Amino acid sequence: MATLRFLGACGTVTGSKFLLEAGSRRVLFECGIFQGSRELKEKNWAAPPFDPASLDAVVLTHAHIDHTGYVPRIAKSGFGGPVYVTPPTGGLLDYLWPDAAHLHEEDATYANRKGYSRHRPALPFFDADDARRALRLLRPVPFHERVELSGNLAFTFHRVGHILGAAFITVEADGKRIVFSGDVGQRDVPILKEPEPPGAADYLVLESTYGDRLHSGESPREELGRAVAETAGRRGVVLIPAFAVGRAQDVLYHLRTLQRESRLAEDLPIYLDSPMAVSAAELYCRSLSEHDLEMTELTDRGLCPIDGPSVHFVRDGRESKALNDRTGPMVVISASGMLSGGRILHHLKRRLPDPQTTLLFVGFQSAGTLGRRILEGAREVVIHGQQVQVEAEVRELPALSAHADQRGLLQWAGGLPAPPRATYLVHGEPAARESLAGELRSQSGWNLVLPEEGESVELK
Ligand code: ZN
Repeated sequence: MATLRFLGACGTVTGSKFLLEAGSRRVLFECGIFQGSRELKEKNWAAPPFDPASLDAVVLTHAHIDHTGYVPRIAKSGFGGPVYVTPPTGGLLDYLWPDAAHLHEEDATYANRKGYSRHRPALPFFDADDARRALRLLRPVPFHERVELSGNLAFTFHRVGHILGAAFITVEADGKRIVFSGDVGQRDVPILKEPEPPGAADYLVLESTYGDRLHSGESPREELGRAVAETAGRRGVVLIPAFAVGRAQDVLYHLRTLQRESRLAEDLPIYLDSPMAVSAAELYCRSLSEHDLEMTELTDRGLCPIDGPSVHFVRDGRESKALNDRTGPMVVISASGMLSGGRILHHLKRRLPDPQTTLLFVGFQSAGTLGRRILEGAREVVIHGQQVQVEAEVRELPALSAHADQRGLLQWAGGLPAPPRATYLVHGEPAARESLAGELRSQSGWNLVLPEEGESVELK
């Protein structure tokens, strides 16, 4: 009999970690860090809730750090087994882990200089060596190829349309089928192939990020076009905080399409201001096997749909700072998506006090982040220890999110031929989780469980 332990993303959207024990095997599905409030981030520093050396393997659904950022940490403390990913996820992690290591090292240096850490000296959460060690463990496996971990344990990746390389995982353990949804993407988003249906499952571990929300029925491209045109009309700057992998490339694709169709001025400058997002954009363009029809057709005609004369890729930090001297109209897409760090912060300091600016949120803002505070109407915020007035227009475009809304989640789960024996809702804040549970319970045959962190269940 297999046992599943929920070690993160229970009542929150980060820190995904699910430990499956079947026979003598221990496999960790997802290995993410907690993000958001200080309290959540503190949890990353606690001793791992399992012995890393005792794990046989780690399997990851997609590259986002809240699903992968804990791997270098356990690689540092004794884990040396294989880490299974899809090939595009491996390609993204080649950039993401070293980039994260660099940020952790900078944080530690800063903490030591300012002396605010409880640890003396403050050490990085993981460093470049740990990232390299973790990268050596990666075992890329194509979608739909079954991997046998032992006689009674196997898994397969399937496309889930969330970001490049994102998968849901079907696991066969002791004769039972368990599906880990990972993050479920929306249908009809640009660039990537559509999410595949989940197939049969005895047990389903389902995300619930937008479990209580419905994205607007309007085309996200139209809404984006309107927000940008209005801001450009008053010669303002549109600031778009975006996860460097996923949203940034989609937004760019939509903006370029609007320009090609002459619905936005062809010469409106668009800056992609994040080295990580630039590298990911290049990988998106090269990953031909993952492209949807429209992207394939454009690529075949020799058009790179996320590049063009008005698009400027900004890698250099000085070039990024120099954008502060420019006046609008222009669009700046920069990370981090929840305003928890990165170059977006210096843009905010410069642009938030300016009523001509539009701050346009296109992704989920989790509780405790600066993004959430501004979205909820804060008129003054503190950035790098400095008070900053919020005079900019603040808009939200959740329809551009990489996550399916409640309808999308129900539709995807509805692809199961029959309700599973149990469905475990994870990766959602309490209201979202409750709401999705309510909707599923109202359909006959669904048995919903909202696991607490640390809880263990037997998959009989
Ligand atoms: Zn994700």
